Amino acid sequence: MLNKNFDNYVLPTYGRQNVSFTEGKNAILMDSEGNEYIDFAAGIAVCSVGHGNERLTKAICDQVSKVIHVSNLYYIEPQGECAKKIVEMSGYDMKCFFGNSGAEANEGAIKIARKYGEVDGTPKRYKIITLEHSFHGRTITALKATGQESMHNYFGPFPDGFVYAKNIDEIESLIDDHTVAVMIELVQGEGGVQPLDRAKVQALAAMLKSRDILLMVDEVQTGIYRTGEFLASNLYGIEPDVITLAKGLGGGVPIGVVMTSKKNIFAPGDHGSTFGGNYLSTAAANEVLNILDELKQSGELDHILIYFEEALNTFAAKHPAVFLEHVGFGMMRGLRVVDADTLAKIINAGREAGVLVLKAGRNTLRFLPPLTITKDEINQGFSRLENAMKRL
Ligand SMILES: *Cc1c(COP(=O)(O)O)cnc(C)c1O
Repeated sequence: MLNKNFDNYVLPTYGRQNVSFTEGKNAILMDSEGNEYIDFAAGIAVCSVGHGNERLTKAICDQVSKVIHVSNLYYIEPQGECAKKIVEMSGYDMKCFFGNSGAEANEGAIKIARKYGEVDGTPKRYKIITLEHSFHGRTITALKATGQESMHNYFGPFPDGFVYAKNIDEIESLIDDHTVAVMIELVQGEGGVQPLDRAKVQALAAMLKSRDILLMVDEVQTGIYRTGEFLASNLYGIEPDVITLAKGLGGGVPIGVVMTSKKNIFAPGDHGSTFGGNYLSTAAANEVLNILDELKQSGELDHILIYFEEALNTFAAKHPAVFLEHVGFGMMRGLRVVDADTLAKIINAGREAGVLVLKAGRNTLRFLPPLTITKDEINQGFSRLENAMKRL
């Protein structure tokens, strides 16, 4: 019954689980049959301040009762405020451009790199190096930037100029006279919760700076306190040239940002977006940033991150034959599962037991809970996951 409209009218691009949700409160979701779930997924790292957040709801309602949208041909006050907050919270001397999604933010980053590589009188630098197992989005160009060949079936021809490094060590050897940028996730999300080595990232950043090659960090998933700091770039102690954000920023309202230290790279007409940075999305983002900034400053965020980590360790330790390794930072965590089949069973049994968890890569059980999750919700979630393990 639930599926009829989907079967008849929605293109089948997702393998959907047979459940639909009607309301939520922080990390708890209710389905259409009245069952309750602990949400360890938060969309996919989107619902950073939980479901039904009263402050976010009020900020959105207050804004939309006044004005939802005007075009970017006018000054949109909350957009300016949002850019200021993001820049100040990041600690980087940058300017922002607003779009509506992660892929779009990365498109903006790629356009910045392409324009940066265009200097009068010299051969254009245009090549962008990305990593294998990366994920940068679904538009044709962001998909080409994504270092997973299997996702490139059917959709070519693609824009030229993307080069894939097997790992961070291989990047330098792939640089040539046409290389303008390197784009990386500091913790690969879709690729399987795979953090890069901090010292290697710092060495890479220094090497790229010395060769005038842009370091572009895709923080669509890692950004907005997901790893415990405002940006994973802060955690890694680097100063990228370009950073992209999206998932957690709007608390569920679509928004994407590309920010860069190359503040004069674009002139009017070089780039744009109809919806990007409108009243609705930036009013939402401003309140999300207020809420999370307070959570961080009060010490509560750091406290709950540690609590979650310990709960996850305790859970994993009970099943040493199933979970091989614990990976990730902050509220971006994974357990490597012995095989993909067992992982699929855990996700399904988890849902039946009332807890929502995700898959990443081939065999990683992924946890991306709301950053506002409480201890009770964490305890409840792991106790249900424990029940699910008994049913495997
Ligand atoms: C989710 C994701 C994207 C794509 O974001 P969309 O909003 O789906 O376009 C890009 N990069 C990373 C690292 C992501 O996790």
